[in-house]
Amino acid sequence: MDARLVVDQLRVQEIVRGDGRVCYTVVDADCSVVAEADGFLRTCRAGMDRTYAYVLVDHLRWLRFAGLDTGSVSLEDLRHYMAALGADYPGPFGLPWRENKRPYGHSALKTAAACLKGFYLYLGIHGVNPALAEALRVTRLPTRADRRRAMLGHVLHSMPTNPLAPASGCAGIRRCCRRALGRCCWGRCRARGTGWWSRGWPTAVSGSVSCGLRLVDLHLREQAACGQCRGPHVHICHREDNANRARVKTKTPWTWQDNAVCGGTVRRASPAMIHTYFEYITTQYPAQSVHGMLLVSLHGPSQGQPWTTAAARGMLRPAAARVEIGRVVPHAFRHSFATAVLDAARGNAVIAREAGGWASAVTVEQVYGHVDVHDPVFTAALEKVWGTRP
Ligand SMILES: [Zn+2]
Repeated sequence: MDARLVVDQLRVQEIVRGDGRVCYTVVDADCSVVAEADGFLRTCRAGMDRTYAYVLVDHLRWLRFAGLDTGSVSLEDLRHYMAALGADYPGPFGLPWRENKRPYGHSALKTAAACLKGFYLYLGIHGVNPALAEALRVTRLPTRADRRRAMLGHVLHSMPTNPLAPASGCAGIRRCCRRALGRCCWGRCRARGTGWWSRGWPTAVSGSVSCGLRLVDLHLREQAACGQCRGPHVHICHREDNANRARVKTKTPWTWQDNAVCGGTVRRASPAMIHTYFEYITTQYPAQSVHGMLLVSLHGPSQGQPWTTAAARGMLRPAAARVEIGRVVPHAFRHSFATAVLDAARGNAVIAREAGGWASAVTVEQVYGHVDVHDPVFTAALEKVWGTRP
């Protein structure tokens, strides 16, 4: 029989259960449920079962196409399968068992790896192909990158690992890339305001946050009126009414009292940030700005208008392309920054969290408590990252 006919027999079926819940399973040509897949999908939480059903149906089609079955497939076979999923196959119909489908991207490959591992571990428990389940059930010692992620608040002794998972991409921007990007942005696009990217601003306050900053949020001198931080700092405040619709996720309450912003999330500003700010405000910032937003477009039809988050991303794209470091999003700067602080603070997650405003703040706080922004260790770590520490 034509291989394509064989693989077309399997498909994902949506099932509406008695209580209204929608589930997903895999059925064969004769509409019979594929028991192994169904059993596994029933163990997946709602929301994941649909994704996993599609991953699984693709995998089961491949098994048939390759003349294999769940009982005999080896780890090596699965590795080939994963490689094929991510491969850009030059044939006219794509990969034969998945016609005209695009190769999986990094995150889809991670999902597929997790699904397949779960599937074969499930089968292993039920006596099918236990050798494969054993091969998939490996753990490893935590790496430095894992310990960085331990900001999530866990103490790591060993990491579950997945031999099928794709090699991890670079989450932050490596220091050398960052420097190259900085040179590129600062040197060539200075007039367009991209200098911001290289001078500490987006690292301390993420890209989208930068777009939501107003001039009044900046307390860039010692002993500011708010009394919340002795050194120069920035208040990150959630606002619904910004002209560029930039909204900060953090919703720490803030107020406007005695003509000064008070509250919000306070981030310390580096000397380089202050320097960039004054250079920008004295030479480039439009004299009359009604919106009071910090980052504005300096050229073109939108001149004088505040940057949107999309514009900020758009600005990074050509710069990243020029220095050939792939796709760079504003958030990556912040990730790099947090990592650098974590290194400088010898793994003190609270300090890194405080410096970078890490998202999983709640967990870290529960585990480690809170760090004072004037803590000497905190200051030392920041200064090391800022490059101002002798
Ligand atoms: Zn302040």
